Amino acid sequence: MRRAYKLRVFPTRPQEGRAVRLLADHCDLYNAALQERREAWRMRNLSITYGDQSAQLKEIRAADPDGQGRHSFTAQQQTLRRLNVVFGAYFKRVRRAEMAGRQAGMKGGNLQRRTVGYPRYKPRQRFNQVLFVAGDGAKWEPADDDRWAHATFQAVGRVRVNQQRPVVGRVKTLQLKREVRRWYVIVVTEAETVPLASTGRSVGVDVGVARFLTTSDGEVVANPRFLDAAQKRIVDLQRRIMRARPGSGNRRRLKRSLAKEWRTLRNQRRDFHHKTARGLVDTCDTLALEDLRVAAMTASAAGTLEHPGRNVAAKAGLNRSILDAGWTQFTRILVAKAESAGRRVVLVHPAYTSIDCHTCGASCARPQQDLVICPVHGDLDADLNGARNIATRAGLGSGQASAA
Ligand SMILES: [Zn+2]
Repeated sequence: MRRAYKLRVFPTRPQEGRAVRLLADHCDLYNAALQERREAWRMRNLSITYGDQSAQLKEIRAADPDGQGRHSFTAQQQTLRRLNVVFGAYFKRVRRAEMAGRQAGMKGGNLQRRTVGYPRYKPRQRFNQVLFVAGDGAKWEPADDDRWAHATFQAVGRVRVNQQRPVVGRVKTLQLKREVRRWYVIVVTEAETVPLASTGRSVGVDVGVARFLTTSDGEVVANPRFLDAAQKRIVDLQRRIMRARPGSGNRRRLKRSLAKEWRTLRNQRRDFHHKTARGLVDTCDTLALEDLRVAAMTASAAGTLEHPGRNVAAKAGLNRSILDAGWTQFTRILVAKAESAGRRVVLVHPAYTSIDCHTCGASCARPQQDLVICPVHGDLDADLNGARNIATRAGLGSGQASAA
């Protein structure tokens, strides 16, 4: 199973200069290869293939040791392949147009052919990516304790990568990409799917504020204790920073401590998410979850954990923000683990799952976070009710515990 991770890259000034040059050189190669195909067709009615062009690379490199010769051979092959894909699509469009032309009774479809756009030269400023094969002109080094991972590209150097999430599987390719002055690497991995034995258990999972999660068959995972401790330390540091004199060394030190505190929290939380997800994936065939991306999109203005907005500083919003950021990450980890284990994940729309009574569907009152009151069925555990609704919405039977 292939997975792709898009991660932000932070090159130094000289590295960025070399990366720009890398793109320019690859752009030139792309355009030269396009020109060759174009002229061969125009002047001799010859079709040039990827194989033909790849075979010329050695010569091109030898003739230009300070330019094309500096770059990764396999990366250049990828750029030629990219052109080949463009031509493949072009020929397909031509054939389709000819077919349509014949059906419409035109002669040979020549008229139609002119309307199909021939592949175009790319201007340098719009040539934005180069694909490297891992282990051949490019190398990936995952982050261990630190948040920085590193990617090395031939003719660019070893650049820092912000590894927001763990990269799972064997790294196959590394694509260096420019996007409006920012740089990214797209890491594609091949993770083996190891199907786990069937367990007969299928659950809905509700994540909440009072507890970390509750399943529709009554399993409860509490919020880890380190969240509270970290929150206290963060609030304390933020208060001290506000009191410290702007520009002072003290303030700078406090800020650094705060950044470290967040990083520690991030790492601990990620470990916790991995362990919790592992537990669920090992014991369930099917997992139903709320699609939190829907909710996350509307909340993004409040800032994320990595880029906290103003609101995050307020004590009231902090707990919430720590948990919010956690849920999206947890969902992502759970989905990834489930997929690589051959488990099924169903994402359901999050509307009203916690407020409607699971048994009768009536709209419940929610006087406190962990309690809902159905007009017919009385007091219900809010999270358990939510988990059962999620299970039902995902089509997992009644969502009730079978042997309760
Ligand atoms: Zn009810």
